[in-house]
Amino acid sequence: MFGWRKFRRGVILSHYEPRGAPSAITDAPLPARVFIPLLQHRGLPAIPIVKYGDVVLRGQLIAEAPLPQSITMHAPVSGTVSAVAPWRHPSGKKITAIHIESDGRDMQADFLPLAKPWREAAQGEIVQKVLQCGIAGMSGSGVPAHIKLAPPADKPIDILLVNGLDGQPPVQSAAALQKLETENTLEGALIVKKTVAAKRIIVAIDKTRTEILKTIEALRKDKRFAEIEVRPVSAAYPLGEEITLIYAMTGRAVLTGQTPQDLGCVVFSTSTLLAIFNAVVKGQPLYDRVVTVAGPAIGRPANLRVRIGTPVAELLEIAAVNNGTVKKIIMGGPMTGLAIAERDTPVIKTTTAVIALDYTTPPLLEFDCIRCSACFQVCPRRLAPTVLAHCVKNNDIDKAAEWGIARCCACGCCTYVCPSKINLAHYIALGNYHLQSVKQAGRQ
Ligand code: SF4
Ligand code: SF4
Repeated sequence: MFGWRKFRRGVILSHYEPRGAPSAITDAPLPARVFIPLLQHRGLPAIPIVKYGDVVLRGQLIAEAPLPQSITMHAPVSGTVSAVAPWRHPSGKKITAIHIESDGRDMQADFLPLAKPWREAAQGEIVQKVLQCGIAGMSGSGVPAHIKLAPPADKPIDILLVNGLDGQPPVQSAAALQKLETENTLEGALIVKKTVAAKRIIVAIDKTRTEILKTIEALRKDKRFAEIEVRPVSAAYPLGEEITLIYAMTGRAVLTGQTPQDLGCVVFSTSTLLAIFNAVVKGQPLYDRVVTVAGPAIGRPANLRVRIGTPVAELLEIAAVNNGTVKKIIMGGPMTGLAIAERDTPVIKTTTAVIALDYTTPPLLEFDCIRCSACFQVCPRRLAPTVLAHCVKNNDIDKAAEWGIARCCACGCCTYVCPSKINLAHYIALGNYHLQSVKQAGRQ
């Protein structure tokens, strides 16, 4: 009944591939000042436990998670707390952040790995260690990793899906990291498999990443990794999106209101698995990440390992941004990233990329729908985008709900292909916002 499906929807974004396709990772210089927003994940903000004037070490706990739906924060540099005050956030809002002036010495706090080998540890011990190390989904989802590691007892997991796809070119941060740390990433997958008691591990990899595929094949000769199944796929966008990947890899369709756990699946990106490995085996908290810096206004595209909280301006300078031509800066991929107005916006745990464009998109002049069905054909959720947009324009949200508007993953493929330049994804997002507001009002 279930099986591997060839993903025939979505769009190919190969023209976004950066010039010179960087594959190495460069360590960015230590930032002079970092800004650690208390919200870098899906859930509740962390609670600061440091104040103005406190001296901190790299990796030291600076904010606690009040409830499971939150994550802890750690100092990315050693130095002095200069403020706990609102600061710019990639979402465009101002959110309370811990500001740290680096002392330039980068002195490290003691890391505490698990007291025993992870194979002998109980599920609760591993979950607790991941919680202590402040790991959120690093491919952009921001879901606290410790929540996904502790599925409800009535929802047993049988498949761990490893998302080795970067999703949106020119983002290459996950592939670059995986190439460098293939073995540790796979060991991270084994840790997760044990923790959620999954039966299988399936790794989805872009079939053009031949070097990584070869390394994994070589590692699979080692009996530790022999059980790992590898699926090279054509990385059409948005195959890296969680629900789309589950359907493509297992044939299991997540329906409205269901979660991957309802279908016995859990999905982790390779970056998150590496962070889990570092937390469990080395006791290392999440205080840095790899960010792709690319785009037409970038002179030297790069995958930079940067400390969380580093202002985007520093990344742009390292990658030789052309200040004369840059018109727009996006944090995240070109399809789902958010444009930022200020360059002192910091990198957060979910920042996969910084893209500098030398053009701005003009306001779209919409024409009438010509019933070409292109939007139907690309929608990974098998929705009818033109019908949904029509419902929203006519303020008929109930009908949009009947047509499954809540299942939209906001990938933007429908807008991308529409020859009439109708911003379908925008109307659908508005409809979903309205639907959520109505639901919330009903709960109050
Ligand atoms: S309707 Fe939603 S899921 Fe479907 S293509 Fe448009 S944005 Fe993507
Ligand atoms: S792609 Fe645009 S023109 Fe074609 S059916 Fe969809 S909304 Fe209509």
